[in-house]
Amino acid sequence: MNIIKLNNVSKKYSNGTTALRNISLDIEAGEFVYIVGPSGAGKSTFIKLLYHELKIDKGTGIVAKFDLMKLKRRDVPLLRRSVGVVFQDYKLLPKKTVYENIAYAMEVVGKRPREIKKRVNEVLDLVGLKHKLRSFPDELSGGEQQRVAIARSIANAPKLLIADEPTGNLDPENSWEIMNLLEKINLQGTTILMATHNSQIVNTLRHRVVAIENGRIVRDQAEGDYGYDD
Ligand code: ADP
Ligand code: ADP
Repeated sequence: MNIIKLNNVSKKYSNGTTALRNISLDIEAGEFVYIVGPSGAGKSTFIKLLYHELKIDKGTGIVAKFDLMKLKRRDVPLLRRSVGVVFQDYKLLPKKTVYENIAYAMEVVGKRPREIKKRVNEVLDLVGLKHKLRSFPDELSGGEQQRVAIARSIANAPKLLIADEPTGNLDPENSWEIMNLLEKINLQGTTILMATHNSQIVNTLRHRVVAIENGRIVRDQAEGDYGYDD
């Protein structure tokens, strides 16, 4: 089963910049895929299309059974239930505690309090931060904040987890810790799509590599290497 199916997808920003040209890509449920490429290649644009932060303007795209062309505004929360997202800068809500950050992601999709409580504890356990549940984001290290963000992203048990440079702000030790978590989540059945500039990670933890340059897919390689000088 394809969890992502893109056919000739293009994206032009309103200022005239064409960020993606004729992207066609199939990703099967359960895969782990790296998106690599130089700065400005279109990686972030690509990722934003997948969770409907941006609309595609040509082609067709299906993500977790949602048709990106037909998706209505009111359907976006449904998509977000099936697709977890993790960012380079964590994007935790600063005025909420660790617990509340994760619980909120479940409240907005209408989960019941009892289920929320159980699941928040479960995902905090998975990322090893149960003891920090009352902390606020600014009381945590970067690595800890990213672990909370990952816990939040999987709280609703998404089929697909999209990570845009999740280790971009972290030192090597914390980066590897984040990768261990993503591997674990992938082994539990979640598809992972991760944009990264980290050659060491890509060359060590081998997975499918899709390279984007100038808005086009220029390489799609099983167990691929990073393929650029850092
Ligand atoms: P990457 O993530 O690979 O660095 P991006 O997807 O951010 O690449 O950018 C792809 C291209 O689109 C670049 O030329 C960039 O300057 C342009 N771009 C990105 N965001 C916008 C925007 N909001 N408006 C106009 N152009 C943009
Ligand atoms: P807003 O409309 O203000 O962006 P949302 O309800 O969409 O609020 O999201 C609330 C918080 O949860 C935000 O910090 C957002 O980044 C985060 N969030 C929303 N959807 C997801 C998701 N699928 N995975 C991870 N975090 C998410």
